[in-house]
Amino acid sequence: MQKTFSIIKPDAVKRNLIGHINQIIESSELKILASKKLYLTKKQAEIFYEVHKERPFFDSLVEYMTSGPVQVQVLEGNNAVANYRKIMGATNPAEAEEGTIRKQYAESIEANSVHGSDSEENAKIEISFFFSGSELV
Ligand code: GDP
Repeated sequence: MQKTFSIIKPDAVKRNLIGHINQIIESSELKILASKKLYLTKKQAEIFYEVHKERPFFDSLVEYMTSGPVQVQVLEGNNAVANYRKIMGATNPAEAEEGTIRKQYAESIEANSVHGSDSEENAKIEISFFFSGSELV
């Protein structure tokens, strides 16, 4: 069993898609261990996407991620990191496979509805950024 970290991003929360996206997640092998809605602060968004800080889209990404509430979640299942990335689809929705969350719901390469950890190591870091152990049930 492996855990991964997921964010339902502001564009999707704004369009009332939390339930639709979680239906896709729960229809796969993944279990939702924890889920809460919150606003990312500018500082949190900057830290979360620090790896992209030299990219031209960084400021716009931080602005978008703080433009409304997000739903942060911990998912668990076999190969959860890779499986959730598969269900999410490619970063650019124009390149995402049919049936993926981003193909169905993403608005653009930036407002692409969901985040998922890209490695088990990053999943652990991202989960502990938002959740304490007692919240994972
Ligand atoms: P992910 O792991 O599929 O989310 O993709 P990345 O780690 O490469 O990028 C992080 C996030 O930055 C993406 O999910 C998008 O929200 C945003 N992003 C990535 N590439 C671009 C881009 O070329 N332009 C803009 N505006 N945003 C981007």
